[in-house]
Amino acid sequence: MDNGLSIRPWAGRARSDALALVKRKGRAANAPCSICGQPIDYSLVYPHKQSCSVQHIRSRRDYPELTWEPGNWAPAHLDCNKSEGTGGRPGLGVMGDW
Ligand SMILES: [Zn+2]
Repeated sequence: MDNGLSIRPWAGRARSDALALVKRKGRAANAPCSICGQPIDYSLVYPHKQSCSVQHIRSRRDYPELTWEPGNWAPAHLDCNKSEGTGGRPGLGVMGDW
């Protein structure tokens, strides 16, 4: 992505750390999924469809500068997150996102 900014890609160890933080906070607050509003079982782990994933409140596509802003993260079911995507077309088997 050429956005004129140098944003670290949403990947690797840092993304794992972000997920761990969101899980910890979400579990402590008993936070529901930010997309469907249903409870999240924080004991489930990736790649379980109902496991917790990091939803970007402001999408990474539109707000790449907020990719690593913890205030822009919210817990969401992995499946919900996948189906919402980043604003692209769903159902194309996009990998590398979640
Ligand atoms: Zn959900």
